[in-house]
Amino acid sequence: MLQQNKGQLNTKNTAYLLLGSNEGDREQWISTAIKYIEKEVGHVTRQSAFYQTAAWGIEEQPDFLNMAIAIETELTPIELLDNILAIEQQLGRERTLKWGQRTIDIDILFYNDIILETERLTVPHPYIHKRNFALVPLEEIAPNLLHPILNKDITQLLDNCTDKLQVTKLK
Ligand code: ATP
Ligand code: MG
Ligand code: MG
Repeated sequence: MLQQNKGQLNTKNTAYLLLGSNEGDREQWISTAIKYIEKEVGHVTRQSAFYQTAAWGIEEQPDFLNMAIAIETELTPIELLDNILAIEQQLGRERTLKWGQRTIDIDILFYNDIILETERLTVPHPYIHKRNFALVPLEEIAPNLLHPILNKDITQLLDNCTDKLQVTKLK
């Protein structure tokens, strides 16, 4: 199921990604991921500060660093997913425990105003509105971005979010 409200897939698609790391040199993993994204995925047009965030889902693990970025890409959503999963692999991501500790996690938050639900890929990311660690960095770079299903912008989603885990802006 692919639904795009406006226009067609084109050469300049805007996607928002969330980067996260809670293992090793977290800042370095995120910075390296951004270099790979710039090289292999598309131009990074905006990037938030680093945020220190308490782990969500499985809370007994080290804090994360998170950052939201906006990119322009010619890749389709599924090509984008394949590319970011490949970058995670290159940066030593190992999948052991769901929501467990990781060198790098790269998630697609939004892709244009597409609504997509397949076995491999759900866009917008299904947990955006339940996660301060996604909403706070995203609000820094795109406060007025509209969620195409919930019809609320990021500031409104943040105001309504009940997640109380701590998110602290670093630099
Ligand atoms: P969460 O998605 O709740 O943040 P996670 O990031 O830890 O969990 P991963 O192990 O990184 O989960 O990804 C598992 C799978 O999720 C990926 O292999 C991918 O197929 C799927 N997936 C579905 N929707 C998305 C999305 N919007 N962005 C990234 N991966 C997605
Ligand atoms: Mg994730
Ligand atoms: Mg992920």
